[in-house]
Amino acid sequence: MEGATGSTSRSGIRRLALLIWAAIACGLLAPGGSVRAEDPRTNDVRTDDAHAQNAILPTPVTEVAAGVFVHMAPYQLATPRNLGFIGNAGFIIGRDAVAVIDTGGSLRAGAGLRAAIRLRTSVPIRYVINTHVHPDHVLGNAAFLEDGTEFVGHAALPEALAARQVVYLAKARELMGEEAFAGTRIVPPTRLVTDTLTLDLGDRPLLLEAWPLAHSGTDLTVMDVNTGTWFLGDLLFAGHVPALDGNALKWIALLDRMKQREATRVVPGHGPAALSWPEAALPTERYLRRLVADVRHLIQQGRPMTEAGGSAASEAGEWSLFDEFNPRNAVTTFHDLEWE
Ligand SMILES: [Zn+2]
Repeated sequence: MEGATGSTSRSGIRRLALLIWAAIACGLLAPGGSVRAEDPRTNDVRTDDAHAQNAILPTPVTEVAAGVFVHMAPYQLATPRNLGFIGNAGFIIGRDAVAVIDTGGSLRAGAGLRAAIRLRTSVPIRYVINTHVHPDHVLGNAAFLEDGTEFVGHAALPEALAARQVVYLAKARELMGEEAFAGTRIVPPTRLVTDTLTLDLGDRPLLLEAWPLAHSGTDLTVMDVNTGTWFLGDLLFAGHVPALDGNALKWIALLDRMKQREATRVVPGHGPAALSWPEAALPTERYLRRLVADVRHLIQQGRPMTEAGGSAASEAGEWSLFDEFNPRNAVTTFHDLEWE
């Protein structure tokens, strides 16, 4: 079952070395760029050399369980250097197939992830699963088109992508610049999940579940049943402040339900590669509860929505990128709570 996940045997290492050498020779990789330590603040997918040479590097990943790999994205906004790879992504290698979970924020980010997979296995990449609509999780999809891969997502995802694609692409291009953005386009899912769906990678079932409005209207989780590894997408944040594009109260209620489930480990959409469950839910829940309390207080005092961004700030200092996301979260929540 786990035979395809890369071996520590001497022949495996030799094969990997040969692959890296071949990739360098083909100009696919920058020399020395194959394995780098991961740091949540500065974990750009590009080194200076790669940037200068315009090369695609295999994305650094951590094996969080047998055959389950995660790229821990930096806590940053999209830049030319990070290629928009600012949301976590991963892949699961089964006997017959590989499933990719989220693809980063540009074609190049997706290509790096694909290179990381190909360093470890030649098994077909049969599925690309998007956990939700946000650009840092879907804009790398096109890197997997040539594999004949099936794209899988929440039933509401195609419509959400269609409605937002012009804005997402324009914004990504503006933040990353032409060169890093080159070739990036929207690839919507063709296989849709309305409730649950099981995909089998070869004695390796993945349970996909589509959830109601919470972080977004398109949230989907992926459970690797064999290892109990649960990819939660942006239903879970750690370190990086939660971003709200749904409804805070509904998100809190959903986390409550999800905490009843057992998982050996969970993978957040932003944060470390893996965390333990259900404890990992606590900071996100605390953030959302305080956001709701702060905004309710403002509304009760008769303050205007324009003050929400600056005032609903009990969690300031607890999270990275607080000032970049909290004002929007507060305004969204003000809208929802205004008439309650
Ligand atoms: Zn998101």
